[in-house]
Amino acid sequence: MDSKRFAIRTYGCQMNVHDSEKVATLLEDSGLATAEGEGDADVLVINTCSIRDKAEHQLYSDLGKLRAWKAAKPGRVVGVGGCVAQQVGDKLLGRFDHLDFVFGTHNLRKVPAMLDQASAGQRAAWVDEEKSQARFDLPMRRPEAPVGKRHKAFVTVMEGCDMFCSFCIVPSTRGREISRLASEIEAEVASLAEQGIREVTLLGQTVNAYGRHDVRRGKAAAAGTMPFAELLARLDAIPGIERLRYTSPHPLFYDDALIRAHGELEHLCPHVHLPVQSGSNTILEAMRRRYTRERYFEIVDALRAARPDIAITSDLIVGFPGETEADFDDTLGLVERAGLVDSFSFKYSPRPGTTAADLAGEVPPDVAQDRLERLQSQQKAQTLAYHRTRVGQETLVFVDGESRKGHGQLSGRDPHHRVVNVDLPFEAGVGPGAALAVEIVEATPHSLLGRPLDPALRA
Ligand code: SF4
Repeated sequence: MDSKRFAIRTYGCQMNVHDSEKVATLLEDSGLATAEGEGDADVLVINTCSIRDKAEHQLYSDLGKLRAWKAAKPGRVVGVGGCVAQQVGDKLLGRFDHLDFVFGTHNLRKVPAMLDQASAGQRAAWVDEEKSQARFDLPMRRPEAPVGKRHKAFVTVMEGCDMFCSFCIVPSTRGREISRLASEIEAEVASLAEQGIREVTLLGQTVNAYGRHDVRRGKAAAAGTMPFAELLARLDAIPGIERLRYTSPHPLFYDDALIRAHGELEHLCPHVHLPVQSGSNTILEAMRRRYTRERYFEIVDALRAARPDIAITSDLIVGFPGETEADFDDTLGLVERAGLVDSFSFKYSPRPGTTAADLAGEVPPDVAQDRLERLQSQQKAQTLAYHRTRVGQETLVFVDGESRKGHGQLSGRDPHHRVVNVDLPFEAGVGPGAALAVEIVEATPHSLLGRPLDPALRA
């Protein structure tokens, strides 16, 4: 008999993408196969995000539409995980009678058992918080897994968040901060390197807070953790790892050692995605971000002193309650002064259960929209200006696959995490995972165009 096939629909951040990879490995270990697409699947898992209002509505809309998907083939199963599942829990089962199981962000390992139960007609929800190291004890990705046919991988180093920014629901959906044993992280990275992975991105909600509670209490050695900069140094030394990245750091947890690491570690990439959220000290305080714009500039300047070619990108929110035109001007000013190479920007939307949801001073939607457009247009110009500085430079591209344009154009990332497209004849036989040395020949606001240095590879 053919094995059942599964598909996973993932929303949200890289942590969710990585969680979906773990669920995929768990399902494969239970004898399921990856479906070609959702139409061909017997099991569909939706991994949700609740960081923005729309993402939650998206789930409800998806689930509504999946009623027909489920009815189209007997025995089909629908499961929901991720942050919305963690928040809403078994109420989702009440609202959607065709939904079979719900699992929280700490309960990935329960998915195969819940699937068995669902096949026996039992619906269930597991959303308990797992406070022990057992939370990280999930199967590692192996090369034969479809998700493993790549040159790069994510590795979780910590989970949860103790920061409670006033707009953010993550501390409720991901629980308190917990750092993974350094020895396990090292073992996973070494194993990935042996399997051909050359680029590793360390993941955590506040990734550079890694080990901080143990270090502060003087118990890091006993707890099996260490300062984040030390962890980076250990991973940097693992043979086969050519690129090391981390995301997302919090400005509060930059110390001298971490800044120095950017100048010293051979494989630590010249890119940091450093969320700032606002350029106004008043708004930063209302957001409970625990730093000022001046401190942000100090970090950015220190990173540039340590690694002059570092590309800094960020996240920004406009229209936070109480944001005035002057506050918004401070944000525009920060984007320029910090020399942000790129940013993700969003209009604030209140999340139930956060303290900001009760704040007065709502910014009218048209004002927020106008600010978002102005911010994005400034960023676009800045990104293009940065890209133009790269024209004429040589860089190394790790190829991810075909570019959006298709037609044999390949796309990948350089060490600065910029998208570089490369025109290559199909016969060149260069595929995902290849490392291509190129010269940057053209800049657009969204990407760079590279020409292979090897004349034999030129289109
Ligand atoms: S640091 Fe703030 S924004 Fe980031 S996950 Fe924690 S609470 Fe949310």
